[in-house]
Amino acid sequence: MARTLAAGNWKMNGDAGLMDELATLAAHQGEDGPDVLICPPATMLAQAVAATKDSRVAVGGQDCHAAASGAHTGDVSAAMIRDTGASAVIVGHSERRADHHESNADIRAKAQAAWAAGLLPILCIGESEAERMGPDTLDIIAAQLDASVPDGATGETLVIAYEPIWAIGTGRVPTLEQIVETHDMIRARLVARFGDEGDKIRILYGGSVKPTNAAEIFTAKNVDGALVGGASLKASDFQPIIDALA
Ligand code: PGA
Repeated sequence: MARTLAAGNWKMNGDAGLMDELATLAAHQGEDGPDVLICPPATMLAQAVAATKDSRVAVGGQDCHAAASGAHTGDVSAAMIRDTGASAVIVGHSERRADHHESNADIRAKAQAAWAAGLLPILCIGESEAERMGPDTLDIIAAQLDASVPDGATGETLVIAYEPIWAIGTGRVPTLEQIVETHDMIRARLVARFGDEGDKIRILYGGSVKPTNAAEIFTAKNVDGALVGGASLKASDFQPIIDALA
């Protein structure tokens, strides 16, 4: 089985107090265990890298521009994220897809920009509530996966996060059967496209993962970890989720 990963997405939250939480989290990680990643806002990346120095906690961005540089006011390139000492970046989060009209093609280009800068992209896909209620849920997710993931992905260079939009920040989660079915479909598609490497690409579940439900979600064979929003903001919430993966 691929190395498991607990990834925290702070979204647009973060202040000096959260840096203390991060230092606590970093100090708490033992010599081995699941990979741990925290993605703070771009302005806090360098501070977060400093707070996790010499620990097993890695730091990532929440988005990057697809271009290497240029006239893109307010945007941040993958190389700029890499320059802070970060090693990963989330691309295609549903909040970016919705708030910034990002298409599958945009996300594919961002994943390639991440590769060019030496960052690991955590690429998000997932259905809306209406799409979950309809008959074509798996086809919709498969189409997102196919169109967002660039050619040439390997277990070392890509992480997928399956995040049902209706489960994000709502306290609602799919049934274990739905998670299993969706992750199995994603795995089969990755293997069909990338062969053995497709088997090594980690597939995270995201959407209202909490200390209370993490262990059950992690029983699914093709769930290799979690992308966690709200419950990554406090070390005392995030640590039990990390422990549930160990
Ligand atoms: P949540 O967010 O854990 O707060 O539901 C998950 C995410 O958006 O990545």
